[in-house]
Amino acid sequence: PPLPDPAPLVARIRTIPDWPKPGVLFRDITPLLLDPQAFRLLVDTFVIRYMHEKIDRVAGIDARGFIIGSVVAHQLNAGFIPIRKAGKLPFTTLRERYTLEYGEAEVEIHTDAIEPGARALLIDDLIATGGTMVAAANLLTRLGANVVETAAIIDLPALGGSARLREAGFSVFTLCS
Ligand code: AMP
Repeated sequence: PPLPDPAPLVARIRTIPDWPKPGVLFRDITPLLLDPQAFRLLVDTFVIRYMHEKIDRVAGIDARGFIIGSVVAHQLNAGFIPIRKAGKLPFTTLRERYTLEYGEAEVEIHTDAIEPGARALLIDDLIATGGTMVAAANLLTRLGANVVETAAIIDLPALGGSARLREAGFSVFTLCS
């Protein structure tokens, strides 16, 4: 089926200049989450896109990817995988380190989160440099999963993240740029 018009969603994304630091335009999705129609439209858009893709697990990235990913997982009858910032997951984990504008960060996944060959959908709210999404996709790949697509509400194409994901061989879907 065709995907719904994303305009009502885009209208609910609030831009906060100079947060968390000068020069950053922070794209705040909390107004979208507050609006029941917009939240439903968001979830429905991802569900329509992936309903025939036999998704076994939806992986959401800490923390806004959890909000979207868990609801999409439920609607797709898929399991949910939390991909977390380092030091939060209690069982055996794999880690991926990636560089931020200032410094480095790490994301982790439980080693029993997915089986080799299983089909995973990876979700976050926004792709900027792509460092977070590439690291998360690498975790799934290291466990032998098939990353069907990496998906987000917002792409910031000027920061090159979606291009970097595609260069790394991952499919990318975003609702707006
Ligand atoms: P990156 O790894 O550079 O692609 O950054 C993506 C992660 O940082 C996502 O989890 C986003 O939630 C967050 N992020 C980066 N830049 C922004 C921004 N301008 N507005 C909102 N969130 C952002």
